[in-house]
Amino acid sequence: MRRPKLLWHLFPYFLLVTLVTLVAVTWYSAHSWRAFFLGQTARDLETRARLVETRISGRAALENEVWVDKLCKDLGKITSTRLTVILPSGKVLGDTDEAPAKMDNHGDRPEIQEALAGKEGVSTRFSFTLGHNRMYVAVPVKSQGKIIGVVRASLPMTSIGQALKAYYLQIVLGGLFIALLVALLSFYIARRLSDPLENLKRGALRFAQGDLSRKLPIPRTDELASLAEVLNEMAGKLEDRINALIRQGQMQEAVLSSMIEGVLAIDAGQRLIALNRAGASLLGVNKEGALHRTVQEIVQDSELRWFINRTLSAQDPIEGEVDLNKGEQILQAHGTSLRDPAGASLGVLIVLHDVTHLRRLEHVRRDFVANVSHELKTPITSIKGFMETLLAGAIREPENAENFLRIVARQTDRLNEIIDDLLSLSRIEKDAERGQIFLTTQRVKGVLAAAIEICTPKAQDRGIGVDLNCPEDLRARVNAPLLEQAVVNLVDNAIKYSEGNREVRVEAERTGPEVVIRVRDQGSGIPPEHLPRLFERFYRVDSGRSRQFGGTGLGLAIVKHIAQAHGGKVTVASTPGKGSVFSLHLLPD
Ligand code: ADP
Repeated sequence: MRRPKLLWHLFPYFLLVTLVTLVAVTWYSAHSWRAFFLGQTARDLETRARLVETRISGRAALENEVWVDKLCKDLGKITSTRLTVILPSGKVLGDTDEAPAKMDNHGDRPEIQEALAGKEGVSTRFSFTLGHNRMYVAVPVKSQGKIIGVVRASLPMTSIGQALKAYYLQIVLGGLFIALLVALLSFYIARRLSDPLENLKRGALRFAQGDLSRKLPIPRTDELASLAEVLNEMAGKLEDRINALIRQGQMQEAVLSSMIEGVLAIDAGQRLIALNRAGASLLGVNKEGALHRTVQEIVQDSELRWFINRTLSAQDPIEGEVDLNKGEQILQAHGTSLRDPAGASLGVLIVLHDVTHLRRLEHVRRDFVANVSHELKTPITSIKGFMETLLAGAIREPENAENFLRIVARQTDRLNEIIDDLLSLSRIEKDAERGQIFLTTQRVKGVLAAAIEICTPKAQDRGIGVDLNCPEDLRARVNAPLLEQAVVNLVDNAIKYSEGNREVRVEAERTGPEVVIRVRDQGSGIPPEHLPRLFERFYRVDSGRSRQFGGTGLGLAIVKHIAQAHGGKVTVASTPGKGSVFSLHLLPD
């Protein structure tokens, strides 16, 4: 409903009061004026009647009827008054407007009767002689204390009425003018009263819309000034409180955002009420879009949904592991019920910790132990078997004995190689962890040539050519013995896994912000499914072939750790049947 403004509430009342006062004053003054005017007219008529009376007082004059009538007619014309002289019998002696003979007896007229009684007679009534309303004033004519006649003066009411009307018009016009003035004044006053309130209203509205910084202007009146001050104070306190809440919210948001754990708060109606960045990325949803939606809508994984439902119905905190995306991501989940300070349940808080990497490491470690045991077990079993055979008597068969001992020696070499590789791997890891791998700026070509030289006999044995292509002045920050070992491992593999008459190329160049060393072969290549795990310890694509060439399965793991110790990485690209390219990405000088 549209309510009228205060201005339109005040103004009509101001106007009404003024108009009522004005009408009352106008009416009263018109009324008083009419009374005054009629009194004045009556006195005027009396004066005129007295004038005639002084002329005719004396019996002789009254006896001359013609003279009296003429006097009435003459004086009447001059004064624009009807003058009549009447005898106490009521007979008319003279009249301004009529011939006295034609006029009836006037003794019954009220003013005449009053004058005959010795008083001044006044009457306003209809004149049957002239046919309109008139005012009559009659005065007695005395001679020696006796009333010998009456002189009456009269005026038509129409002329009195006209004079009054003209005056009324003036009063009404004056009244209207004053009403207009008062209306403008009332409007001005009403506005002066309502304007500060309107300002306060606008300011309060601004506060309600959240703009608390712009304070209200202080009006001049005491009551409104106090109101504005109270409102300003209230807005100030509100602003402080809101700012504190915003700061608190931002702080909470910052804490939640910087947490690596995913945090989800869910209300009793299973709607998401809070979610941090890590949580959104774990669930694979957009944070803003997910808020206030139900668990069913945003959590796709049934295992996690089940965990949330369990937390919602549980009294105590619960913990569990959830596999996301068919086990590709493993989350450790903690669920606790959320309670307000009074202890009432608000929902639940779920904290998700991505333990995929941890679990994978555990897995790798488990595999590693199993692999090491397995790798060591094979030569040891072989050594043990041949030793037992020798002890059982084969030692006395020189031909077999020598053969067996040669096998034992080979297996011992293999054990030695595995242990050497394991030791150098752990040394590199340990040194890298302690920051004890010192890098110096070196000519890359020198290091590569030294590595190729080590591999040359093996390459020649297999009829494989090794080609080096490296700018003379190419320099990088490296640890020369370690880099040499990495390149030896890569070239050794390239030779091992290539057929004869093929070529291995070692290239180095500066590409953008790094120095890249590539070892390219035309060998068997590696199927793509093996590439992600190729640099794991003991990972082999073809273990039979690897063992046949005396491989330990640790060569590429060593290369990876050396690359990392240089602040770089190793990558591989391979096409089965065509060959592989292993690239070492290092920092330039
Ligand atoms: P290994 O001692 O068995 O060679 P590595 O760690 O050096 O161990 O290599 C891991 C596996 O990667 C090897 O067993 C082999 O199957 C594969 N591999 C490494 N280099 C090459 C290459 N240049 N061409 C094809 N396969 C390779």
